[in-house]
Amino acid sequence: MHQPVAVWLIKRDARLGDNACLAEAKRLGLEVLPLFCFEPTLLAANDTSEMHIQAQWQGVSGLRAALRRQGADVVIAHGEVVDKLAKLHALVPFSHLMTHEEIGNDLTYRRDQAIAAWCRTHQVQYQEFPQSSVRRGGVNRDRLQQVWKNRIALVPPLPTGSIDQSSDLRNLAAQTTFPRMAALRPNRNWQPVSEADAQATLAEFLQERGVRYRGGISSPNTAMTAGSRLSVHLAWGTVTTRQVWHAVQARLAALDPDDPHTARWRKSLSAFVSRLHWRDHFAQRLESEPELEFRSIHPAFRNLPYEDDHQLYLAWCEGRTGYPLVDAVMRCLATTGFINFRMRAMVVSFACHVLHLDWRMIHPHLARVFRDYDPGIHLNQLQMQAGVVGWNAIRVYNPTKQLADWDANCQFVKQWVPELRAVSPETILQGEDLPHYPERVVPFAPRAKQMIDALYAIRKMEETKLLTPAVYRKHGSRKKEQVFRPKRTSKKGATRPIKPPAPGLFDLLEDE
Ligand SMILES: Cc1cc2nc3c(=O)[nH]c(=O)nc-3n(C[C@H](O)[C@H](O)[C@H](O)COP(=O)(O)OP(=O)(O)OC[C@H]3O[C@@H](n4cnc5c(N)ncnc54)[C@H](O)[C@@H]3O)c2cc1C
Repeated sequence: MHQPVAVWLIKRDARLGDNACLAEAKRLGLEVLPLFCFEPTLLAANDTSEMHIQAQWQGVSGLRAALRRQGADVVIAHGEVVDKLAKLHALVPFSHLMTHEEIGNDLTYRRDQAIAAWCRTHQVQYQEFPQSSVRRGGVNRDRLQQVWKNRIALVPPLPTGSIDQSSDLRNLAAQTTFPRMAALRPNRNWQPVSEADAQATLAEFLQERGVRYRGGISSPNTAMTAGSRLSVHLAWGTVTTRQVWHAVQARLAALDPDDPHTARWRKSLSAFVSRLHWRDHFAQRLESEPELEFRSIHPAFRNLPYEDDHQLYLAWCEGRTGYPLVDAVMRCLATTGFINFRMRAMVVSFACHVLHLDWRMIHPHLARVFRDYDPGIHLNQLQMQAGVVGWNAIRVYNPTKQLADWDANCQFVKQWVPELRAVSPETILQGEDLPHYPERVVPFAPRAKQMIDALYAIRKMEETKLLTPAVYRKHGSRKKEQVFRPKRTSKKGATRPIKPPAPGLFDLLEDE
């Protein structure tokens, strides 16, 4: 071994582009030994599924192919990271361990702490690099936009990295192979995940599909192509937010002012960029308060009267609730691992508000059927849609109205609920007593009202109103900050405490 060696521990960052670990290793003149572990603890977690394992496998396979073209390779191991590091260190006494700051769940957080501790006891220098605008340990929300500027907007993505690797290391890595796991079986229904796929998806979105983004992402029939479809890549790290953001800026700069589609492109790309910000906004919440994996962000909503009926839960998971759009979404998810935002929100609202299932009960199943499972977005969105955040509008999605609005000819429903293929759209839209199809497991309106009454009763409690401003100050988006200034000047000039936000718009039958 001629040069000191850095192990690059690959987690959700199987890419060569915009990779700070590689750039730092190059700067320090280190040889690099990439290491990826299939970790038994994570494989067995209740929020992990084949869709995720296979996504990681694809990401690392693509990386391995790219590294081999550079004359390098990656070690692929099956075991807990700390055990594997110990074994690797006996073979290759590496001096550095570089990895990205994962904003994950409790398991990955504890795993990262164990790795850092192992490095300390073995005199290995441990370095973590952020790959988003999320600040480790939390941030003053007032500074969030500035952090975004400093990390994303003002810093161009790092160019595709190359690594120095001796033939000894390459040979060692080349001997390691993917374990024989059923979960690695390819599945054509699942969106491919690799750095090359990420770049192709981004280019296609920015050159062709993106113009339909605004107005196109609400219907499950159009969102599959109008949406960027970058979620799997952002989630598994085959592309970074910074790469995407800068690509959007380049596209905006290149738009022809005389082109009649330019205004539409601008609106669409602006709506898209907002969502990139939301992504980090939610990840920051989880980073600042990891406990929100297990309890609602707002303390007042931690004891809601959920029923957690197992039969209802199974009917929801399996898509046999008797509500065609809910069932179509759940079946589509189980097969493809993808559905658009509005439909995700609808099935969560239905589960929590109508079936009275706790958001914590439905979390693992939904995580498993989302190929793009990303704890930061996922846990926060679950809580928002369940209405337990405390300041967002409590929104009940009525599946019958959603069907009429977004799948009026029942194309999506018929694709995923074959027993309704012979039934006319008019009959399906009318909703009840559908032939050869389950009866509704519960009636919509009274059940939704019951849960909404419970949510509003909590909102109106003095105790809740006192707590809300503090929770908002820690986690809320800053556009509404002025709502929570403790005092304001009334028309007459006297100061009086300002009220916490009024309960959001609520209409049992309207969601927007
Ligand atoms: C209950 C629920 C759970 C969700 N869980 C996840 C999840 O685990 N992983 C995930 O990537 N998205 C999740 N979302 C957000 C959203 O539905 C998906 O990101 C989006 O549908 C993916 O399609 P796209 O890549 O075409 O997104 P686009 O609309 O093109 O958005 C671009 C990117 O912005 C981010 N984004 C989009 N919408 C949101 C949002 N509302 N909040 C935060 N970030 C957003 C995603 O990274 C997305 O890829 C969830 C939404 C809900 C309602």
